[in-house]
Amino acid sequence: MTDEEGLTLTVRGAEKRDAGRGIARLPEATRRKLGVLSGDTVIVEGSRETVAKVWPAGSTVPEGVVLIDADTRANAGAKIDESVRVSKVDVEDARSVTLAMPDDVAFENEDRAVDLIKTSLQDRPIQAGGQIHFERLSGDPFVVSETNPDGMVRITQSTRLELVRRGRVERVVASVGSATEEEQPSTGVTYEDIGGLDEELDLVREMIELPLSEPEVFAHLGIDPPKGVLLHGPPGTGKTLIAKAVANEVDATFLTISGPEIMSKYKGESEEKLRERFEEARENAPAIVFFDEIDSIAGKREDGGDVENRIVGQLLSLMDGLDARGDVIVIGATNRVDTLDPALRRGGRFDREIEIGVPNERGRREILDVHTRRMPLAENVDLERLAARTHGFVGADLESLAKEAAMTALRRSRRAETADAPESLTELEVTAADFESAMAS
Ligand code: ADP
Repeated sequence: MTDEEGLTLTVRGAEKRDAGRGIARLPEATRRKLGVLSGDTVIVEGSRETVAKVWPAGSTVPEGVVLIDADTRANAGAKIDESVRVSKVDVEDARSVTLAMPDDVAFENEDRAVDLIKTSLQDRPIQAGGQIHFERLSGDPFVVSETNPDGMVRITQSTRLELVRRGRVERVVASVGSATEEEQPSTGVTYEDIGGLDEELDLVREMIELPLSEPEVFAHLGIDPPKGVLLHGPPGTGKTLIAKAVANEVDATFLTISGPEIMSKYKGESEEKLRERFEEARENAPAIVFFDEIDSIAGKREDGGDVENRIVGQLLSLMDGLDARGDVIVIGATNRVDTLDPALRRGGRFDREIEIGVPNERGRREILDVHTRRMPLAENVDLERLAARTHGFVGADLESLAKEAAMTALRRSRRAETADAPESLTELEVTAADFESAMAS
């Protein structure tokens, strides 16, 4: 669809390495229809509007799709698979920009921090009220609190950038209707943080997003909304990550119940604890209750003792009691699906079982992208080859590998450092050799 005000496009998540860059990737045909070139600025409009810089999307991305990251989705008020209006816009260069930073950010040298932030925002179009995550600095977003001139502007080398604490500008932020106005505790995990589980994620989203965001649809259709999804697969493959990302993207409260903890820590009060947790979820709905290692309470009842029996019974009745509103959903996770009480696997409890398996090469590549995107990688690091050589590694292993390589780089630079020639931190890179020694360790 096209008219002079742009195109209606379908939102997809960003490529993993693009997270936090505030760009909109568009397929060639779509760019042509919009009359935009790479580097141009577009308005992305969902229930709110924001600006993003155009980049080309790969040839596998179908026409009519725009790839944007979590901040851009939040700023545009649009979720994955929703439609946004995308149109070309010319923006002025910003003379000055004020960024409100989260309270947990601390710098040793504020001038240097301002320089670094400015460099990473170079050429980026922004607008007051927009949120921007700097993953290296905080899990919470920075918020653009003021720009001069007003409106949509681009940060350039000569833009004056000022950092202030969030507290000082709350009023300003509120008045421009920011996405972070109603501070909700969030897991901070986005779809761009998950590598290689596109299909599994789609299945989970299909079961969860609709009931949580539009529960009335189910009532209208006269069917019960899903109450639970069971994720199963080896440890460290991303089950928790998926649950957290879905909660974050639908703005749902995320509550965790740990199976082993409920069994040991609350001996004698386990059922009561379960009940309280579900109550808390209901009060904070929409909510996702993430039940980790659910097999530890819900092992097959015949070989369990009385306690297990009672707790499984309690969980069943709590799940049966989730009302038809559908705004509380249970995600169970287990490494041992076969040991699970069959009663939990019967209809009406966990409506779907989704296997989260060991990633293939493509998945490993994406996971490596996620865990290295904040690292200064040397040019000789070949993530493609690393992905090919890490058969059998799960996400948690690949994360450790990336961290270990970074630590190796750090140790290397410490060794090389002498009192008169300290290596500058900004020049430190993680090299292919660092990954080699991380592989060997
Ligand atoms: P599980 O719940 O399946 O045991 P987690 O989701 O807790 O595993 O994963 C542990 C950590 O490993 C995550 O915090 C993340 O850093 C990393 N990880 C696991 N799977 C993935 C993945 N598919 N993509 C990116 N990181 C992953």
